[in-house]
Amino acid sequence: MLVLEGQERSGGGLQTDFSILPGGRHDHCATVLPLAAASPFFRAIGLTERLSWVHSPAALAHPFDDGSAVLLWQDLERTAGELGADRGRYRALFQPLLERGDALLATLLTPAPGAICFPGFSVPWSALFHFAREGTRSAARLCQQFQTEQARALLAGLAAHSTLPLERVPSAAFALVLALCAHLVGWPLLRGGTVQLTARLIDELAAWGGRLSSGCGVYRLTELPPARAVLLDLVPKNALALVGQRWPRRYRQQLARFRHGPGVFKIDWLLRGEIPWRATACALAATVHLGGTAEEIAAAERAVVNGRIPERPFVILVQPSQFDHSRAMPGVAVAWGYCHVPNGWQGDATEVIERQVERFAPGFRSRILARRAWSPLELEQKNPNLVGGDLAAGWPTLGQLLTRPSWWPWPPYRTPDPALFFCSASTPPGGGVHGLCGYWAARWVDRWLQRLDRVDRLKSM
Ligand SMILES: Cc1cc2nc3c(=O)[nH]c(=O)nc-3n(C[C@H](O)[C@H](O)[C@H](O)COP(=O)(O)OP(=O)(O)OC[C@H]3O[C@@H](n4cnc5c(N)ncnc54)[C@H](O)[C@@H]3O)c2cc1C
Repeated sequence: MLVLEGQERSGGGLQTDFSILPGGRHDHCATVLPLAAASPFFRAIGLTERLSWVHSPAALAHPFDDGSAVLLWQDLERTAGELGADRGRYRALFQPLLERGDALLATLLTPAPGAICFPGFSVPWSALFHFAREGTRSAARLCQQFQTEQARALLAGLAAHSTLPLERVPSAAFALVLALCAHLVGWPLLRGGTVQLTARLIDELAAWGGRLSSGCGVYRLTELPPARAVLLDLVPKNALALVGQRWPRRYRQQLARFRHGPGVFKIDWLLRGEIPWRATACALAATVHLGGTAEEIAAAERAVVNGRIPERPFVILVQPSQFDHSRAMPGVAVAWGYCHVPNGWQGDATEVIERQVERFAPGFRSRILARRAWSPLELEQKNPNLVGGDLAAGWPTLGQLLTRPSWWPWPPYRTPDPALFFCSASTPPGGGVHGLCGYWAARWVDRWLQRLDRVDRLKSM
């Protein structure tokens, strides 16, 4: 098994370095890893136990202009207790999902109907029906069931991770999955940075006899050594450029129709001291959602999809060194924040992002020692899978969620060429750090190769 990585440093979205100023360690992309902590694949290979996890007391904080904040705790009752009149409704929404929560999450992270094809996979049907009823709607509809601003804003912020407008189906599913993860495993980080996961995965590869070659970008199929199966960790656009005419026209047309969602504009900060939150409870969570009310978040996300950068964007902010002291020198803190912007947007969102942080943490700007901003195109230059800054390797609309990158051939890891497969986040279950796109791709490849071997044996009889 040979892994070819284009960059000198391996890891893709799982890299950490000291690149702003010495004294603070920054994750380039992923930091908060609920899907990795819940990943059935990482658990099955014993990786989850070998990593050093850091949990902030609360998974998430969502502050408001009046200096209050709502917190998402791992404990369901404690979270429901934050929501006043919506306490019962929140409990009724999540209790049925959590009854067989691990099995439900494993099912949701499986290419439908892949769960049924592999023996030993147990589908928690009643939880799945509850999820389908509540999740296959828009976040706007989900929020309408709640009376309090706290509950509505909390769910809107979770749903906004999807990059879909909140009026669009199935944005509610993202809110449910992210809250489900919070209640099952929390939203943990890795001590020392996400690069720790890269290191463990490379060890795992070596333990299975595999080899990694970095600095080996592949831009033509002829550059590859002979292999029975090639797994492409590429978005369709880049796979098309690599494979070209070797795929039939109908399949190429399908891939060409694959859509990318909004991009992100990200800023890494090195700060003097921690962030001075007006709502002090924000210091209890590694992730903070800065968007104000549900209506405001919905308007911001709608503006992005309509090609505009909102005055008050929805900012996802992460403050890892607050909980993992190995990431920064004493007296110094690292944090990052991003907002969604139109795909490939070429402007500078530094001002609007920092203004939004300042709104909930007066004095934030005066603590900035250094910053590094990443525009969508800079992100794409660093990693060609981030097309136009799209961090999910394809917009998770209902159609593209289940059949990404194409509806034919099935399963979507296959391509019309029996030796070429997709394994990127453009396949189910999509973006996020969980290793499951590669896991499911590898299982189908294994099945496929066994089938070819059987045919060969029959032919030779
Ligand atoms: C700013 C940002 C923040 C994020 N935060 C989180 C988070 O907190 N939690 C979370 O779960 N997820 C987060 N994500 C998403 C997460 O990083 C991705 O979903 C995940 O990394 C996808 O993994 P992957 O292996 O499919 O692709 P990638 O991590 O993108 O890796 C693809 C690799 O393929 C290489 N490559 C591409 N083309 C070629 C080629 N032609 N030849 C050779 N090599 C090539 C690239 O260099 C790259 O190393 C974030 C993403 C971004 C951009």
